[in-house]
Amino acid sequence: MIRFSSVTKAFDVRAVLEGVSLDVRSGRITALIGPNGSGKTTLIKVLLGLARPDAGTVSIDGVVTDPDGAYRRRVGYMPQAARFPEHLRVREVFDLVTAMRGAPPRDEELIEAFGLPREWERPVGTLSGGTKQKVNAAIAFLYAPDILVLDEPTAGLDPVAAGILRERMRREQAAGRLVIVTSHVIAELEELAQDIAFLIDGRLEFTGSVEELLARTGAPHVEPAIAQLLKQARAAHALAEAPQRAGGVPEVA
Ligand code: ADP
Repeated sequence: MIRFSSVTKAFDVRAVLEGVSLDVRSGRITALIGPNGSGKTTLIKVLLGLARPDAGTVSIDGVVTDPDGAYRRRVGYMPQAARFPEHLRVREVFDLVTAMRGAPPRDEELIEAFGLPREWERPVGTLSGGTKQKVNAAIAFLYAPDILVLDEPTAGLDPVAAGILRERMRREQAAGRLVIVTSHVIAELEELAQDIAFLIDGRLEFTGSVEELLARTGAPHVEPAIAQLLKQARAAHALAEAPQRAGGVPEVA
């Protein structure tokens, strides 16, 4: 289990995460949802040790993570858009990852499933966006990580490849791994995820199972449930701001 405890992060003076406390369970797929700029990527970066929180901790199986620590080898990360050196051939990208890791790959299933050997000798710069995304996905799974963090994994993939990836995520979950996934396509997340973490403006607005979300909102699906929570949060925010605004604008008698 991953536990975020009161994670706070600001860039300059702007608070991006405000005391986020969240448990993410193994053997589940957790959807990290939130409007653009709500702090999803920053929370993922804190987990990966790529951003240091100003306060709070992240622990994995009860052990607080050290940003430089060995735990990072347990995490497979698929960024939204991977940037590989354009001149490298696909084969060389995998060689590079293997050299950095210092061990032979443990799981090449997606390389085969995505037909990447056919692209082996092509420079990355000549690949379509979808094929780059396949390389990106195959790398995330290459060392059989027990924690998978997938940021918009199916964006840009053709429907067949997206289906292969979703099926693979389900198998990882069934094998007891911990999977965190973000997507703009909430309907897709509903099909995949058992747990939801919903961020708005750096605060966790909801965390729990899909069933709990639907029970709390009375909505039939995740998408309208999220829309409802977002609307409520925005209304509460506007209400909280209103007295300030009223105080700030002197009335003309
Ligand atoms: P999301 O992934 O939900 O779209 P992000 O975590 O990327 O949100 O960003 C949250 C907020 O933090 C945004 O307002 C963004 O502009 C800001 N932000 C993210 N990274 C940085 C950075 N390195 N420096 C300054 N501001 C940043």
